[in-house]
Amino acid sequence: MNHRHLLPNEIDLLLDGEVGFGVAPLQAHVDACEDCQARLARSRKVVDVLEDLPHFAPTPRFADRIMAQVQIVEPWHVAALDTARRFVPRSAPMRTLMTATASAVALALTSGGVWLALHADVAFYSFNLAADRARSALMDTAASVIGTAFGQGGLDALRSSGLRGLALGAGVMVVAVGGAAFGFHALASSSRRSRE
Ligand SMILES: [Zn+2]
Repeated sequence: MNHRHLLPNEIDLLLDGEVGFGVAPLQAHVDACEDCQARLARSRKVVDVLEDLPHFAPTPRFADRIMAQVQIVEPWHVAALDTARRFVPRSAPMRTLMTATASAVALALTSGGVWLALHADVAFYSFNLAADRARSALMDTAASVIGTAFGQGGLDALRSSGLRGLALGAGVMVVAVGGAAFGFHALASSSRRSRE
């Protein structure tokens, strides 16, 4: 006879009714050992009780109810793809048209970018030229406005102080106009009050 007691997994084998090469010595030990007989009987009782338990099944809507409360975090690339997919038209002709348009725009942008990269100095020069022209046009307009409003003195002040002086003058003008508007408003409301 085997001189050691059974291990839990060996008891499981006997409980499951396994038959085989290794089971016979285990059974022989149990037959000769009261201790292991008692353990096997206790385990069999537990198994029987478990077998008698009613089997539960979730209601059909159980999974839906749980999933309704689960917040699923969508990865950004999936969300972006979904958004992009929403913009794709369903009909084939529209899809073709959209693809053609997108290709044309992409081609224009790419060639524009390439041209800009190859002619960066020219582009920079034209930008500076445009900015210069805009500045001188602004100064001319300001000069004519100030010449009309303030005469030669204002014009001289503008020439000597340049664009910064113009900005300062515009600020002063805004404050003056705002103050006048506020004064008129106060006057109007006080006269309305006195009429009431
Ligand atoms: Zn034993």
